[in-house]
Amino acid sequence: MTCVEYPPLLSKLIDGELSVTEHSDIENHLSCCEDCRLHYRHLRHQTMLLRGFLRRHALDEGFVRRVRSVIQSGGAIANPAA
Ligand SMILES: [Zn+2]
Repeated sequence: MTCVEYPPLLSKLIDGELSVTEHSDIENHLSCCEDCRLHYRHLRHQTMLLRGFLRRHALDEGFVRRVRSVIQSGGAIANPAA
């Protein structure tokens, strides 16, 4: 495999969706390719930030309640200043 074939596998690696063969193949490549290793670190960092953001905001009950009330009121957004 060449470097251009690895990016789709990198996100699968982060999500733990690779087969044993793909996993060892990519580990071997990352151990000797600086470019792919940097790309992997960058992607993993962004994924962690996104997961952290989603975890913090997905569990915000006030937000869920506000969205639910907007949906139940037929999509009209309440204007607190009115
Ligand atoms: Zn590479």
